Amino acid sequence: MSEATTYPLSRRIMEMEESATIRMAQLARDLKAKGHDVIDLSLGEPDFDTPVHIKEAAKKALDEGYTKYTPVPGLMELREAIRDKFKRDNGLDYGVNQIVVSNGAKQSIANICLSLLDEGDEVIIFSPYWVSYAEIAKMTGATVVPVYAGIELDYKVTAQQVERAITPRTRLIIFSSPCNPTGSVYSYEELTSIAEIVAKYEHLYVVADEIYEYINFTDKHVSFGTIPQVKDRTITVNGFSKGFAMTGWRLGYIGAPAWIAAASTKMQGQFTSGAASFSQKAAAYALRADMTPSWEMREVYRHRRDLVIELLEQIPGIKVNHPQGAFYIFPDVSGLFGKSDGQMTIHNPDDLSEYLLHTAHVATVSGAAFGADHCLRFSYAASDENLRKAIGRIAEAVARLRG
Ligand code: PMP
Ligand code: GLU
Repeated sequence: MSEATTYPLSRRIMEMEESATIRMAQLARDLKAKGHDVIDLSLGEPDFDTPVHIKEAAKKALDEGYTKYTPVPGLMELREAIRDKFKRDNGLDYGVNQIVVSNGAKQSIANICLSLLDEGDEVIIFSPYWVSYAEIAKMTGATVVPVYAGIELDYKVTAQQVERAITPRTRLIIFSSPCNPTGSVYSYEELTSIAEIVAKYEHLYVVADEIYEYINFTDKHVSFGTIPQVKDRTITVNGFSKGFAMTGWRLGYIGAPAWIAAASTKMQGQFTSGAASFSQKAAAYALRADMTPSWEMREVYRHRRDLVIELLEQIPGIKVNHPQGAFYIFPDVSGLFGKSDGQMTIHNPDDLSEYLLHTAHVATVSGAAFGADHCLRFSYAASDENLRKAIGRIAEAVARLRG
């Protein structure tokens, strides 16, 4: 057989969508490499470096010889720190046997989906949703049932909508609060009314993705698992990427019913053997250390949130939401559909994202990737200067559209 022979790929990978966030970030890097002055508001990644004391803890761990495999669900020291953090910050009571540390919250979610879902099962995903939920769930053969709430509902799904979407095959609900891509935050009352519905269906579990917990501009973060009716039905997902600016350390975790934690451990025992040892040591330290750097980052994001709202609101055709957390803004841009600069007509958010990349050199992500074909996502994890420059260029590019 010649070396040039191409082998067929699996149906699984052929049917999987590429991650739109990661694709846009790569397009932005490619354009930059060609010498263009691109401002990247596509990837949801803190622009801050990891706080120094956490980096020091990792260096110390390396020097102490933390260079080997750890127990698959994570170092006991880290699981104990997570147990205490759940209690301290969330009012959640998970034992160490209910906690599994993984290579990012992304892997945590994959472990859960692979452990709980079979072909024919249904997964309700609150929409707009983070790009990877749908693809991870689909990979298991399950059917994704998006339940959509538009800007008029502040992108928050209601309990009535959830109840209407539940069928005898529904196994899992996945949502994030604070939400990627909308920045919306569910209140205790909103979550309780959803919990009351969930409690009625015995085999229904909920993945509450709380990875943006520390980037919350409301008074308090509410963990879904604290609502008594759903305490044993909730898998709380969290991680270090956002609140501690540790994306590259690849650390996420779950608190879950013990049997789900055991299944996740079995799954990752075959896939990755667990997360990096020195990352885990530093993370254990981070959870017990002074949280001031995280709160300082939150205040910078809050200031930037106000800035992007103010600047985007001045652009005709862009209807701006008022995010309460995370570092994204998710305006409805359908007011620009049908318009053209004479060369390109904007039919949808994919077109708009492409138009802005090529004419304004600003990278964004089309809302279509998040289940919202009226919207565009901007990450405001960027400096004030770059945000002003980017939105100024967007305003000019939009002003050229007619029709
Ligand atoms: N959930 C949400 C809502 C996210 O935005 C991200 C960011 N990538 C993740 C999970 C995964 O984070 P990580 O794998 O870096 O922990
Ligand atoms: N969560 C980030 C985003 O939505 C990082 C990229 C990814 O993992 O999808 O942009």
